[in-house]
Amino acid sequence: MKPAPFDYAVPRTVAEAVAALGDTRRKAQVVAGGQSLILEMHLERVRPELVVDINRIPELDGMRVEGDELRVGALVRHAAFEPPDAVPGPLGTLLAQAVVNIAHPPIRSRGTMAGSYGWAHPASEWCAIGVALDATVELAGPDGARSVAARDYFLGPFRTARLPQELITAVRLPLLGENTGVGFIEHRRTHFCFAQVAVGTTLTVDDGVISDVRIALVNSADRPLRARAAEDALRGSELGALPAGPRVRDEHPFARAGRIAAEHDAAPLPEPFADVDHKRRIIAVLVARTLLQAANDRRARLAARQGDHR
Ligand SMILES: Cc1cc2nc3c(=O)[nH]c(=O)nc-3n(C[C@H](O)[C@H](O)[C@H](O)COP(=O)(O)OP(=O)(O)OC[C@H]3O[C@@H](n4cnc5c(N)ncnc54)[C@H](O)[C@@H]3O)c2cc1C
Repeated sequence: MKPAPFDYAVPRTVAEAVAALGDTRRKAQVVAGGQSLILEMHLERVRPELVVDINRIPELDGMRVEGDELRVGALVRHAAFEPPDAVPGPLGTLLAQAVVNIAHPPIRSRGTMAGSYGWAHPASEWCAIGVALDATVELAGPDGARSVAARDYFLGPFRTARLPQELITAVRLPLLGENTGVGFIEHRRTHFCFAQVAVGTTLTVDDGVISDVRIALVNSADRPLRARAAEDALRGSELGALPAGPRVRDEHPFARAGRIAAEHDAAPLPEPFADVDHKRRIIAVLVARTLLQAANDRRARLAARQGDHR
């Protein structure tokens, strides 16, 4: 199918883009990478009267560390996170582990992190990681700029707190300290499918005690989710000895956290090849395994640091 006719604007500044979006006589859509929007327009599930192409706005490009945050401009492509050293510290490792699960290289070379926030697919890796890490979404609109916490931003499938006249200018993610380990595992039917379920975790340990833990659940509810009940069950407890292999025994606290995430945090929606019980079982396993991955990642980081100091 061909998209319905639409007008096309190519602003050169954020102010021009906001002015174009502010024309409330026409239903407008921003296009960034176009990897979701163009498909939806071809299927005529989205029929904008005006498409605002932000690709020629230099101020939206680039990512940089600002204080203890990473600021990701709205034109930064998924592929920018693939090099393991693109972003410093454990945050860079987590983003690099997650990004290779997003579609395939051509899509990753065009699609943007901010576009994922604009689209708000419940199976978006970036969105769940943002919610779990307390990311912030920067918006520019006719009334000026504002920031919305990722936890308040996602309202449901493809629904967000962004007003139609607002442009996402950046996503800000907190950097993670060197005492934190990370893990990410995705389960999907084929290489090109969205996740049936994916889990990302961060684990911070001080003096043998889990001082912070974040669990991001992808495609485990009608919106990106943080597994707070599972996190609460772990925070403040001793890390203890780690299982030797990838399997986590049922009685291990990581396995218990996995069951809590699956039963109390997640509210999975059924899909043609994954009913709710199936998804809950996968969530339980992936939470346990990514926690173990994060614990091992932290241990390896500490060992590497001690090696550096010898
Ligand atoms: C075959 C296939 C497989 C895919 N698999 C995955 C996957 O596994 N995981 C995943 O997360 N994604 C997946 N995607 C989606 C892909 O990652 C998109 O790149 C992403 O969803 C949107 O990024 P984009 O820059 O292309 O946005 P666009 O397609 O340009 O826009 C998407 C929506 O966001 C809005 N938008 C974009 N940028 C802004 C902005 N700055 N301000 C306000 N609104 C904005 C647009 O108006 C539009 O409504 C897949 C896509 C395809 C086609």
